[in-house]
Amino acid sequence: MAKIFLYDTYTRELREFQPLKPGEVGLYTCGPTVYNFAHLGNMRTYIFEDLLRRTLAFNGFQVKHVMNITDVGHLTSDADTGEDKMETGSRRTGMTAWQIADFYTAEFRKDMARLNIFEPTIWSRATDHIAEQIEFIRCIEAAGYTYQTSDGVYFDTSKLPSYGTLGRLDIEGLQAGMRIDMGEKHNPTDFALWKFSPSEQKRQMEWDSPWGVGFPGWHIECSAMSAKYLGPFFDIHCGGEDHITVHHTNEIAQTEACYGTRLANFWMHAYFLQLDDSVRMSKSSGDFLRVEMLVEKGYDPLAYRMFCLNASYRQKLNFSWDGLDAAVKSLERLRTICFELGDPGSVDAGYLERFTEMVNDDLNMPRAIALTWELVRADLPQAVRKATLLKFDSVLGLGLADWKPSAEETPAEVVELLAQRQQARAEKRWQDADALRDQITAAGWELMDTPEGPKLKPRK
Ligand code: AMP
Ligand code: ZN
Repeated sequence: MAKIFLYDTYTRELREFQPLKPGEVGLYTCGPTVYNFAHLGNMRTYIFEDLLRRTLAFNGFQVKHVMNITDVGHLTSDADTGEDKMETGSRRTGMTAWQIADFYTAEFRKDMARLNIFEPTIWSRATDHIAEQIEFIRCIEAAGYTYQTSDGVYFDTSKLPSYGTLGRLDIEGLQAGMRIDMGEKHNPTDFALWKFSPSEQKRQMEWDSPWGVGFPGWHIECSAMSAKYLGPFFDIHCGGEDHITVHHTNEIAQTEACYGTRLANFWMHAYFLQLDDSVRMSKSSGDFLRVEMLVEKGYDPLAYRMFCLNASYRQKLNFSWDGLDAAVKSLERLRTICFELGDPGSVDAGYLERFTEMVNDDLNMPRAIALTWELVRADLPQAVRKATLLKFDSVLGLGLADWKPSAEETPAEVVELLAQRQQARAEKRWQDADALRDQITAAGWELMDTPEGPKLKPRK
């Protein structure tokens, strides 16, 4: 079996991937916070995770993929102050927090489908797992890592010597600079496990707990739900680069406190999509690009997937319309070539081996794409090129097998043949008409005579 190397943020090195259980991979990817639409930056991270999952499947692994939906507990500030984003979203839109969660979850799934991103094996909503989160907090409490303030139950990060390893946090530096408002927190890095509902206000989403009515902190859902579905130590945990220093650092702290494990064997992070060299695309800025906007502008969303394939997930990527236009062109060319290659035959072993080595080299998609162009021009039978290309596409996810030129894209010469055939029929030159039909068929098109007149359809 081919070796797979993945970059592990925890150790800051490329490591050979070996599953913890033979043949199976447990994969947890932090999902969307459903108080707003996902933007193209978020979707870059989900495309990266999809490429990872497809690469693992390509290598013959059975992947159990869990993705959470954060529908409660994500506060407007990482410092555990500010409002719950769902409640804020509710005020902004006039919908209830529950309706908002359903609405944006459905929109998110639509975007995933449009980008050919596989749905996870298990979706897990935070609000469906309140009991598991309370149980997890009790476990952390029993291990002696918590304290209570007037507004919630907090994790005492000073009790965990390994705290901050993932993010290489400078704890002493943070401690020294703790002039920032910490409220009743003991250390700047402490974080909420459970927040109490404000006494003066009834929240839409709140639950009873051993500590009082309230709602879970944002990080606990991922520790609790990943443990439930994948166990307390599983293969790979992913997210965007912003998760390294806070969210994932805190997930690890919780799980270490409760189970003594660092949650996942590999930690992988996608780097940001930015608007130029410095501006990150973010939900809170409100000013962001969405898949829907691409569709409105007439772009095929898969062009954005192609755009992302041209860069390593470990580099920041600047969005540009020129870059997207270039991706549109290369996607169109690849689709047309694939279509014209006709029926698939057998896969070329040499190309397959090279492709495997590239995607297994920490998902080196730019090289895999360059190899794809080499393949389509290679001196190999058409059927072999087609089969090999479709095999590559099981990782690239560009939907090449399903693509057909649309009627408007019928080549001019086929349109001309049809016109000549109609002329021949009108003049009752039946043999000529049949010969022209054969030429149309040979060009890869099916001609159907319907009550509305002749119709052309690409042959499968
Ligand atoms: P959120 O819904 O804001 O929690 O983010 C969902 C996922 O998108 C997380 O894994 C984030 O780390 C990631 N993310 C957020 N902003 C960006 C960005 N500009 N580029 C790439 N990934 C991002
Ligand atoms: Zn998470």
